Amino acid sequence: MIENKDQNKTDLTQMGEFGLIEHLTQFLKPQLESTIVGIGDDAAVLDHSGQKTVVSTDLLVEGVHFDLAYMPLKHLGYKSVIVNLSDIYAMNARATQVTVSIAVSNRFPLEALEEFYAGVAMAAKIYKVDVVGGDTTSSTKGMLISVTALGVAQEEKLCYRNGAKPNDLLVVSGDLGGAYLGYQVLNREKEVFKVNPQNQPDLDPYSYIVERQLKPEARKDIVDILEKLEVKPTAMIDISDGLSSEILHLCKQSGVGCNLFEDKIPLDPTVISTCEEFKLDSTMVALSGGEDYELLFTIAQEDYPKIKGNPNLTVVGHIAEQAEGAHLISRNNAKIPLTAQGWNSFAKA
Ligand code: ADP
Ligand code: MG
Repeated sequence: MIENKDQNKTDLTQMGEFGLIEHLTQFLKPQLESTIVGIGDDAAVLDHSGQKTVVSTDLLVEGVHFDLAYMPLKHLGYKSVIVNLSDIYAMNARATQVTVSIAVSNRFPLEALEEFYAGVAMAAKIYKVDVVGGDTTSSTKGMLISVTALGVAQEEKLCYRNGAKPNDLLVVSGDLGGAYLGYQVLNREKEVFKVNPQNQPDLDPYSYIVERQLKPEARKDIVDILEKLEVKPTAMIDISDGLSSEILHLCKQSGVGCNLFEDKIPLDPTVISTCEEFKLDSTMVALSGGEDYELLFTIAQEDYPKIKGNPNLTVVGHIAEQAEGAHLISRNNAKIPLTAQGWNSFAKA
């Protein structure tokens, strides 16, 4: 193979499309019975006998959704799969297969794509999904990634965004705001690095939030927990854009309002301390931050005893009549309208 002049890297233009696809996908062998045919033919063949199929897709663009200055390609491959699996779990379904499509410019050597696919393969292994296809093409500038995820569920298990009823409890998994703060920390270090490339950042104190940004996990475990507890959420959505905007989606589609209690929003200690350092309001960060990939769902009041005390789940509020509107009840008991428009416009409210 031809080596890239400067860096001992393998130039993609010398590989040929088919050789490249074969090379990148060689370790992506099917693990599931439902994958009849995976990569290699014109289409994959799946058999999800008897169950409903759910499908979700995402497109990620370099410079818009990710920055390769601090995002290692292996993490990017992992995260690209994770964000799609999160959408499947948000339907209360189980993810089974994904397709991964990439477009790259010739600035990317083979080794870069190998790293990316190592991350894809790791996510596929950990989450037990098969990579069953994709597409590979060139781009004039930068990298584009599209992942499509498929999953299955019994029809009666599926959770939509439109099922929330007044008096239902509003529940979130995990904790919020970490991914956004991790991004803030990485961005700050990137600026420091620009001025002084010798400077090695000490990210240890921020490891939790940096990991939340670079290597998020999807809450497959919550789907299992809910099944074990025999709780079927009345509505569910994943928190990709920040709690506030996801609550508003859920309320709008269900035709309801809600009260969200500021003092109940789950925050990791690192989130609180980093907010102090950056002079950010931790509630604002949780409401508007995004990329946490936790699940937000509503349950009937009578299911409360089943989830009570579960360390993965926090009741953060309750659903109200639509006419009441959607509000944040602040620590000092003020009733503030929730808005989806992020930081500044919310601060003015
Ligand atoms: P076609 O010409 O029909 O688009 P390709 O030659 O692009 O077929 O793809 C051949 C096989 O490799 C197909 O199974 C396709 O789904 C798979 N494939 C192509 N690119 C990727 C990729 N980036 N990741 C995973 N599978 C891929
Ligand atoms: Mg193709």
